[in-house]
Order: sequence, then structure tokens, then C-alpha cells
Amino acid sequence: MFVAKKRDGSYFSLLDCKRIDELERITKGESFYCPACNSALLLKQGQVRRIHFAHQFNSCTASSDPESPYHLEGKVKLYESFLPYNQPILEHHIPNTNQRADVYMETDYGRYAFEFQCSNLSAADFNRRTKLYEKEGIHPIWIIGRQFLVPQDRNVSPLKLSPFQWRFLQRPSPQSPPFILSFCPKRSMFSYHRPIFSINSSTTYLNSQPSEHWLEKPNFIKQHSPLWKEHFLHYKKKWRYQYSFYKPHQKLRSYCYGKMTIPLSLFPAEIGLPVSSFYHIHTSLIEWQAWLYFDSIYQAPTFSLIHLSSVLKNFRFRLKASDITLRDLPLVKAGSYEDAIVEYMNVLVEIGVLKRETPTIYRVLQMILPLSSLEQAHLQDRLVLESLLRTKQSTDY
Ligand SMILES: [Zn+2]
Repeated sequence: MFVAKKRDGSYFSLLDCKRIDELERITKGESFYCPACNSALLLKQGQVRRIHFAHQFNSCTASSDPESPYHLEGKVKLYESFLPYNQPILEHHIPNTNQRADVYMETDYGRYAFEFQCSNLSAADFNRRTKLYEKEGIHPIWIIGRQFLVPQDRNVSPLKLSPFQWRFLQRPSPQSPPFILSFCPKRSMFSYHRPIFSINSSTTYLNSQPSEHWLEKPNFIKQHSPLWKEHFLHYKKKWRYQYSFYKPHQKLRSYCYGKMTIPLSLFPAEIGLPVSSFYHIHTSLIEWQAWLYFDSIYQAPTFSLIHLSSVLKNFRFRLKASDITLRDLPLVKAGSYEDAIVEYMNVLVEIGVLKRETPTIYRVLQMILPLSSLEQAHLQDRLVLESLLRTKQSTDY
């Protein structure tokens, strides 16, 4: 950390001291204390790290020592990036919640606490710290260190996102797209990463956009060709040929056979189609749509009606039984997994399987005939996806 309390209670920031002799004069004979826990701090000067304070004993509730050089550097660069526009405060201590924001800022739009995270943090700690800020009326802005999102700066897309990385997904309002915010201390550069499509629970295509400044509502440039299309068709083929026979899919396999009397490998091509709110659901697209399709759509006779409320009820039953799991997204303040379900129903309307009678009632237009071979299934997967993407030209896919 860079900010400490002196014996007289005033704050002292190492960043304010530009000259080493000045620093020596001020620190000589002075004692420094943690603004959060009041325990004594040591002044540390290393080869790699900037001069910083560290707790004598690692027992602080508001910070995690030791801070890596990457984290120390990131905090300073973040702080400096805000300087031309606002009056940021480095390591701002919030007494009511006993938290220390890496950078804190008050603007016309609200109060912001920036947390630059460069190491794993448990879901419980992440959620607790988020809730504490929110209770104080402060918007927490969680930023992931770029090298913890994009290892060795390889290609940004696709990335394998862990549940920890997914937790950084933020969507402050319905007007804002969902995105993960990263920061690179070496280049003083923010990046906004919008998830576009997930092949499975982790492998995700992102639309990434660098920015020198922090933006509350980033504008993403539309990508016109879906980069993930061939990758997903290949994955879907593999799912049919291999994954559908794996042990974790035993329950879905017997359910599929019981309902449709076909092996799971021959599931209809209408299962596993892109929807924009996919990120709310942890279970892969193919699996959750298979459960939904077998539960709510397959057995409905042609021209019969399907009520959205019963589709949602069946889905909630799958959640309860842990056949489908949702993502823990504490920073997503708009939308829910139910949007993904409605979007899937609407995709089925677009490809002519259903007709929307009212916003909550659908009519079955055509029975989907079971596929007879894996080759036919693979071909059908391509035909359905391509016809859907043709109609979706104007959207983000
Ligand atoms: Zn402390």
C-alpha cells in the first residue's frame, strides 16, 4: 500500500514524495499505521516493487499482503489515469465498512470504488465486499489485471473463462451491454471485453475493445462475421459423436431416450442455438436447451399452444434438481436467465418451429422429425445455424 496514517493521525502518501531525500526526511523517526486496522506498517523498498508500506504481521481485514509488483503498479497507474478528469483518491479508507478501495472517486453520477484484482478471491469475499460498497451507496468497479484474464497476451478470443473470471462480468443498467473490464499496468490501458458466444461453460468468444480511459458505458464496434460459427459446429459434432456418451450426460441421455426414443447423439438440430443472454447460465448451451426442449416442446402436438409460464416452471424444476446451473454474477444488475429462455423461444419462432401468438403464448407449427444418422445431424446443424444467422444479420452475432 502507498497511503498510511502518521502518529498525528494525518495521512501520508508515498506518491506525493517525488524525491528520495524528501522521503527520507519525512519518514525519519516517524511511525506509520494502517488506516483500516491501525497496526504498525513497515516501509519496504525492493528491487522490483515500488516503495510501499506493508503490514508487519499479515493480519489486516482490509487488505491482503503481500501485494504483488503488478498489483502495486496497477493501482498507481489506475489512479494516474483518472487524474486529468477527476479527483481520485488512492487507497481510500471507508470507515463505515472498514474497506479500502484501491482508488475512489466521486463524480456527478455517483461514488465509485475501483478494485484492481490480481489474485484469486473467493466467491464469498467477492460478494461480501461488493455488498458492503453497495450498502454505502458506492458503485464497486471490479477490474481484473489483464494478465489474469489474457495469459501472455495471446489472442483475446476465444478465452477459457473460469467462474472467478466470470464474476467480473458487469452490467450496470439495461442500457449497458455486459462486459468484463481489465487493466494493463504496463501500457496503462483499459480493455472492455464483451462475451459474444460461449462454446461450452468456459470457452467464450469476446469482443474486446481497448481504451485509454475508463468509460461507464463502452460502445462496442459490431462484429459482422460470427467468428465462432465453425468452432461451434465442430464442437456440436464432437458433442454428438463423443460427449453425448460421457457419464455426466447419463441422466439427459436416458431422459432423451425415454421422451423421443432416440439416442442423445441424434438430438434435434434446433437444440444448441445462440441467444444473447446466454451468459446467465453456466450449463452449456446444448445441455440447457436440450432439457428445455425435451421438457416443454417436443411432446406438444402440432398446432397446440405452449405457455411461457410452464416453460419457465419446467426450467426452474431443472435448476432445483441441479440439472442446470446458473452463474453467480454479483455485478450484473439487469436481466436474468429468464431472458435467455424467452430468447430461445423466439429463436424457435425465427426458424419456423413455433409461432408467437402473444408475448407469452406460442403455437407449435411443425413437429421436428428425429434425425436418422450422425451425418444427417451434422448437416442439419449447419443448415439451421446458417439460416438463423442470416436472419440475425443486424444483431451482435
Ligand atoms: Zn491494516
